[in-house]
Amino acid sequence: MQIKALKGMKDVLPEKVELWQYIENIMRYYAKLYGYNEIRTPVVERTELFSRGVGDSTDIVQKEMYTFKDKGGRSITLKPEGTAGVVRAFLEGNLYADTLPCKLYYINNPIFRYEAPQSGRLREHHQFGVECFGSKSPSLDAEIISLGFHLLETFELKNVRVQINSIGCEKCRPNYIKTLKEFLNTKKEFLCPDCLNRIEKNPLRVLDCKIDSCQNAIIEAPSTLNMLCEECYDHFENLKSYLIKTNIPFDINQKIVRGLDYYTKTVFEFVQSTDNGFLTVCGGGRYDNLISELGGSYTPAVGFGMGMERLIMLMPQEAKTNTNGPDIFVCNLSKENFEYSFAIIQKLRENGIVAELDHNGRSVKGQFKYANKLNAKNVLIVGGDELSRNMFKLKNMETGKEEEISIDGFEITIKNKL
Ligand SMILES: [Zn+2]
Ligand SMILES: [Zn+2]
Repeated sequence: MQIKALKGMKDVLPEKVELWQYIENIMRYYAKLYGYNEIRTPVVERTELFSRGVGDSTDIVQKEMYTFKDKGGRSITLKPEGTAGVVRAFLEGNLYADTLPCKLYYINNPIFRYEAPQSGRLREHHQFGVECFGSKSPSLDAEIISLGFHLLETFELKNVRVQINSIGCEKCRPNYIKTLKEFLNTKKEFLCPDCLNRIEKNPLRVLDCKIDSCQNAIIEAPSTLNMLCEECYDHFENLKSYLIKTNIPFDINQKIVRGLDYYTKTVFEFVQSTDNGFLTVCGGGRYDNLISELGGSYTPAVGFGMGMERLIMLMPQEAKTNTNGPDIFVCNLSKENFEYSFAIIQKLRENGIVAELDHNGRSVKGQFKYANKLNAKNVLIVGGDELSRNMFKLKNMETGKEEEISIDGFEITIKNKL
């Protein structure tokens, strides 16, 4: 019997890998442009890293983690988000002793959530993320938002806006939470069962409940922005002015709170409006207390995570066009010439030209079909009358234009044309 992949887990087959590589290259380019260095952390961590880091009361920790006992009886968990592992590595690798801020990114980071697979979010999905440790300056919040904005712009995502909010700090938030709870207690009859639970455990989460009746009930909920302490207020005002100065269009959305407990001050989401409502492509914010909660000394931080499958799903088709076929496909007019053609593709490859030929004895027509299938940019025709005159025929597959090139120095002639 054939064995199938687990539910919500997907292969990336070769035809899609090129698109992934293209996206990864652009992400790496932008990360570097903004001064971020790559970090790679293990797929599994001790469960307590997430119960302490992400928060016991969150949906992730309560319902969605892949948690197992290993053979030594330790509780271990497949990463349900990207940040906690990076914080652990920052502390364990003594990166805090280097010059701060420390700017890190991760790419293709596998993330596991045991939940019903949703569109563009599988049980195993992958994230690109950036984390900046060691500064509380709002200029870094703005910088990270700018990085995300320009990335999504490069991927040609349509109708995407940055939505920002501030959820305050340990000084001003308790007062806000108290006011919010009082408000929510007057709306109990309109709230969904999950939100009724959240009132005591995690009332901020009621604000981003996806259920319409909950959203209607909280239209007049108190706003964090009206209750920020002076420090948080100034921080948010400065963030806005940095975004304005760098031409990043944004909306203020007081309902954005993010799902995780560790956020302080800035939270933001990149949201695409579609026919079926809004989809979040990327989310993040500031988490000034997470590093100290995980055993380090006070180190303010800000970051975001971007789901790669969801990004690919939301990219317009024209931005995904595969143009990565070989530069040259060598077409053999007679089977006797195969060894000669085999030497030719080798020579092309030695000159950095991506070259391919047919190894399976196809007819000339079959070879052209194969070249098309591979997305070859040019076909080099070897044989016939041209060969007896010491020439090859070169056909540009895009324009259909044909020309003869001399066999002497053909690899240089071709290199100059590409
Ligand atoms: Zn505050
Ligand atoms: Zn609800």
